[in-house]
Amino acid sequence: MAISNKKEILIVGAGLVGPILSLFLSKRNYSCTIIEGRNDMRLEKVPDGRSINLAISERGLYALNQVGIKESILKEAIPLKGRLIHNVNDKTFFQEYGQNKNEVIYSISRSKLNNFLLSSSEKTGKVKIFFNEKCLDADLIAGNVKHKNKLTGKISVTSSSHIIAADGSRSLIRKKMEGINGFNQNIEVLDHGYKELIIPPNSNGDFMLDPNMLHIWPRKKYMLIALPNYDRSFTCTLFLPMKGPLSFESLKSSEDFSNFIITFFPDLVPYLKDFNKQFFIKPTGNLYTIKCQPWNVKDQFLLLGDAAHTIAPFFGQGINAAFEDCTILDELLEKFDNQWEKVFSRFSQNRKADMDAISEMALENYFEMRNKTIDPKFLIKKEVEFYLEHNFPNQFIPRYSMVSFNRIPYSICQKRGKIQEKILDKLCSNIKSASEINLNIAKNLINANLDQI
Ligand code: FAD
Repeated sequence: MAISNKKEILIVGAGLVGPILSLFLSKRNYSCTIIEGRNDMRLEKVPDGRSINLAISERGLYALNQVGIKESILKEAIPLKGRLIHNVNDKTFFQEYGQNKNEVIYSISRSKLNNFLLSSSEKTGKVKIFFNEKCLDADLIAGNVKHKNKLTGKISVTSSSHIIAADGSRSLIRKKMEGINGFNQNIEVLDHGYKELIIPPNSNGDFMLDPNMLHIWPRKKYMLIALPNYDRSFTCTLFLPMKGPLSFESLKSSEDFSNFIITFFPDLVPYLKDFNKQFFIKPTGNLYTIKCQPWNVKDQFLLLGDAAHTIAPFFGQGINAAFEDCTILDELLEKFDNQWEKVFSRFSQNRKADMDAISEMALENYFEMRNKTIDPKFLIKKEVEFYLEHNFPNQFIPRYSMVSFNRIPYSICQKRGKIQEKILDKLCSNIKSASEINLNIAKNLINANLDQI
């Protein structure tokens, strides 16, 4: 494999980011070669325990629309209009995500999305994907990667003027960049991990829970969530400390796990038998936050998606952010007329603050989901947020909506979110419902602190 033409780009990794990036590039008349370490996933069964569905929202959908495949993807997506909170006393209550009917997020199958992206890339005729080619090394100065075919054992070296690393959170190219002077990296392994458990369809082949909601069982120090799948099952994700008195480590026997479900998740008892079996078979996943800088080596290498920034999954923004990377890269290619060094360095400099912001907001959202969603004060604030948004549109937009239903840069969402929180603290200190808000006081506070968006 040799890439000689300047119009040919080498991409490492055919996960979710590699193929969508190749679609953006092929629209600009670039040819792409993608090398992927795994077998072609279109030919394989999805391994148990890998995250099988994803919540996708505006940033991801916008990118899919730019490459012309949003509508096809949405055909098999399930809209989620809010969170259904399951209390420990078996009671549930619903919290809408937004107040506008279009403000929904979508649950989609990770493997279907990946497969569709792979096939769409190949259909362009400008993208070649080589599977079972595991990248072993990269020469950051000469601009090449060494890779080994897992089936034949053959080792090849492929060079290209521009190499984009979409090789995920354990990126080999990022590892190589550790050796560069001035490269900073911070890898934080979270204390909490996750395990995925499936609620199958019922005997009529239908959903066991309402499919148009994200189900949350908030239990303060941990939580369980469930997202619907197109085959009418649900994927539940149990987030729990890795170690400690109640943790993945402490749940050693079937009895421990049964007691845990019976005590803290009584409405999940009907699924207990199956859950118990799954709990001890399925792998426990670690969660990371990875921040690094710079993301590029001149115009030769660029890290993209999880390779550049791995964030915790609690805002459902990892793939949305990674797809937005591709939109932004495409806009920079347009702006700088394909001058790659400028494109790579601007991307690396400008995008970093936004990714740091969503990385922090994702961790805050874990606390919000497992702790605050049952706090009456938080619920009043949510009600007031919608009331203010209704009365001061384009000026007060709830943080969740700025992140999920808009493409406002993440750092601005974070900054405005903090200001809005202070406004809410002032307005909500002594009220029991949004109808008690004095709109004149609210207007003065908002005008004094927030510009129009
Ligand atoms: P990956 O999807 O990891 O793809 C990397 C690819 O590179 C893989 O195919 C891999 O085989 C290949 N590769 C790796 N190393 C090599 C090598 N040396 N040589 C060749 N190929 C290589 N995001 C959301 O937006 N919404 C959600 O609801 C959501 N839920 C999540 C739930 C969990 C539990 C987790 C862990 C993450 C979740 N995410 C979510 C985040 C999302 O999964 C990631 O942001 C996304 O997968 C990143 O895509 P990527 O292409 O950068 O990396």
